[in-house]
Order: sequence, then structure tokens, then C-alpha cells
Amino acid sequence: MTPQPTQIKRLPDAIDVQWNDGHHRVYSYQLLRQECPCARCKSDKNPLRLLSADSSVKNLTIVDIQLVGRYAIRLIWNDGHKTGIYTFEFLRSLQPSPTETTSPDNSFD
Ligand SMILES: [Zn+2]
Repeated sequence: MTPQPTQIKRLPDAIDVQWNDGHHRVYSYQLLRQECPCARCKSDKNPLRLLSADSSVKNLTIVDIQLVGRYAIRLIWNDGHKTGIYTFEFLRSLQPSPTETTSPDNSFD
């Protein structure tokens, strides 16, 4: 069974997800945008290129998070992009990008 988020918080540059199996993860906006699972982004090798001209990774934010059924969330970006449906399974399989530092509370076994 795929774990479900019990709490999703929007941070200035990331979303903070608490899962019902005790797992806790912070997903940066940059990572989420790079891994956007929508057809349009997946057909492009670098989804960040799909940003509108006046926006950049720096000021990229999520303006809304919508629950899709009981299996996914839809992210609404400040540049109007909103076709990405992130299933819980997909979120759990996402690996932090190499530039992301691992949080210190990752050391438990
Ligand atoms: Zn997309």
C-alpha cells in the first residue's frame, strides 16, 4: 500500500510532507519542477526550460496544492503551470537532487 501524506506544508522554497508511515521529507520547488510528471515536461529533457521568460528557478514558487482523489497532488506554479499530477508513489520515489543537502534528521535507522 502506498503511504499517504498526513500533512503537507508550503515553505518559501519547498514543500514539507509528513507521511503516515512516519517518513518525513522536504521537496524543493526546484526538484519538483525538474521532475514534473506532466506530458509536456516529460517530453522535454529540461522542464525548467518551460518556464515563462520572466520567471526563473529563483522566484519559482508553488501557489497552491490540490489533492487529486486519494492518490496524488496537483501543484499550481506561479508561472501558471499546473498540469503536473504528482502521485504519492511518485513523490516517495523521488530522490533528492545532488545539490540538495541531506537533513540531519536522516540519520535514524
Ligand atoms: Zn509539467
